[in-house]
Amino acid sequence: MKRIALLSQRLANQIAAGEVVERPASVVKELLENSVDAGAARIDVEIEQGGSKLIRIRDDGQGINKEDLALALSRHATSKIADLDDLENIASLGFRGEALASISSVSRLLLASRSVDATDSGGWQVEAAGQEMTPTLAPAAHPQGTTVEVRDLFFNTPARKKFLRTENTEFGRIDEVVKRLALSRFELAFSLRHNQRTVHQLQAAQSIQEKQRRIGLVCGPAFLEHAVYIDIEASGLRLWGWVCLPTFSRSQPDLQYFYVNGRVIRDKLVSHAVKQAYRDVLFHGRHPAFVLYLELQPALVDVNVHPTKHEVRFRDQRLVHDFLFRSLHKALADVRPADHMETPAAAVESSIASPDGAGSPVQQVPLGLRLDESTGELYAPPDVPSSFAGSGSAAGRGYAGANIATTGADRGGWRQAATPGAGSLADQSALYQRLSEDAEVPPLGYALAQLHGVYILAQNQHGLIVVDMHAAHERITYEHMKSASDSQSIKAQPLLVPISIAVSQAEAECAEAQANELATLGFEIARVADESVIVRQVPSILARADIEQLVRDVLADVREHGRSERISAYRDELLSTMACHGSVRANRQLSVAEMNALLRDMERTERSGQCNHGRPTWVYQSMSDLDKLFLRGQ
Ligand code: ADP
Ligand code: MG
Repeated sequence: MKRIALLSQRLANQIAAGEVVERPASVVKELLENSVDAGAARIDVEIEQGGSKLIRIRDDGQGINKEDLALALSRHATSKIADLDDLENIASLGFRGEALASISSVSRLLLASRSVDATDSGGWQVEAAGQEMTPTLAPAAHPQGTTVEVRDLFFNTPARKKFLRTENTEFGRIDEVVKRLALSRFELAFSLRHNQRTVHQLQAAQSIQEKQRRIGLVCGPAFLEHAVYIDIEASGLRLWGWVCLPTFSRSQPDLQYFYVNGRVIRDKLVSHAVKQAYRDVLFHGRHPAFVLYLELQPALVDVNVHPTKHEVRFRDQRLVHDFLFRSLHKALADVRPADHMETPAAAVESSIASPDGAGSPVQQVPLGLRLDESTGELYAPPDVPSSFAGSGSAAGRGYAGANIATTGADRGGWRQAATPGAGSLADQSALYQRLSEDAEVPPLGYALAQLHGVYILAQNQHGLIVVDMHAAHERITYEHMKSASDSQSIKAQPLLVPISIAVSQAEAECAEAQANELATLGFEIARVADESVIVRQVPSILARADIEQLVRDVLADVREHGRSERISAYRDELLSTMACHGSVRANRQLSVAEMNALLRDMERTERSGQCNHGRPTWVYQSMSDLDKLFLRGQ
């Protein structure tokens, strides 16, 4: 029999390193977080050979006291929390006190620092190389702040080292870590170098334009061209950031950044809510792109559920899920034709050019929108300047959706967006005055003709509109059917032969506890034993679905989110199919009156800018765009 012995400190750290230090990118993440926690204003990252040779991170934060330097390398040593109260109100990124200890147990680590309250002139440093933690202190020439140098990662754990991928792959992950952090701390300057080559050089960003410039540098210019800026507050939660219109979707979920109180997270509840919000505007299998920030009281979210702190746990999951879903759903629904036009609001946006004059397509303005919980409407609070309150109500046109600023898709001169204009804000508000007096022509204008039985040509005050009539009609039919079926409650249908289903005890309990919620969805489900339920009634539109599978899915949803979107998801799918069959087919001749009716319907209908598959339903070219095409006035 083997005897029990305490692990050596080094081995214990190496085991902990297994969780925290998976690869070079995880080292970079931990070190960057430490620099942020130290209040740095600028962080410089230097990488060699994908991080396996060298990771050097230097900051200008508050530094570490000479007396604490060695302690910083021991396990469970932290300056960030002292008691349980602190743990429940964490404002720092780190708090577990194990990163430096773990990293130094699997690399050659040098920690040099000079603290803000240092009285001597230089700094101090300690070194450790995968050994017992008895580092020696030596003077070092170091300005205020901290440098951590990690060399030869995994030199003493060859098994780990074997798992490393190519230099480029490992560097790609480091790059991603830096980008994620750069998007969460606009006020910090970052630089990233790999093998002596500068990869990122990001200035501190304060104004919204500077922030958007950073977004463009990190997510690419196309992201910004299709993004809508939102800022919504309700029930103590705030959601702000940039969401891309469904016309810009990705085959990979690679442009999805979500932050909770400044901490980047990947969370099932969050992805579920986002997916739901995009559900019927995104083509199957496509992924939306967004950079979003959720802010709430630290006590309402538990960040101590995972060693890498990627997951969080919300105290009130349902509240958060609903808030995210409703805010995003509404924001996407509210992008209407009027938002994309060269309306006064759009003109104001476009006058706020990027500060560097680099011709970046950034045109959004911060709108500080609020969500009215009783109506689910977004509105601009009174302190938002009226010229920013959108072309909608302010211009007396009654398009509620217009209070979201957007840039649009520019397809080789054709656009769904504001045309970048010139002139000062004062000029623009004069224009705004003038146009609002003379708002006779609706945003999508009046029909002129039908082109090859496929497109409607229309003119508005500013130029030419081309509408894909089938796509537009399909969308409208679908939205109408949805609201018609929303206004009646779900019809239920009793089953001729009730179905009994074996479920887990937790599911059976849920069915019992949520009987009322399930009844509003059209289900009658009774618990008949510890692990068995019987289904007597289902929503009629689903009577022909696989009931057993459906009930399992619904119970799983209700348990996880407190309710099930599945019924409406399924219903929407059905309606969408029906809408497609019921819509005008290409090659049908429409009268001018019919075409105008369709245009008016589009203006009134939520999400009419995209068809049910996320493709645009209309494009627009202003007179000045056309003039440019013909080189008029040049
Ligand atoms: P944690 O971040 O969880 O506290 P770490 O092992 O990452 O644990 O760091 C241990 C301690 O070392 C921190 O609590 C902090 O006091 C100090 N420290 C680490 N990095 C820095 C830095 N860049 N600037 C200032 N202090 C630092
Ligand atoms: Mg840390």
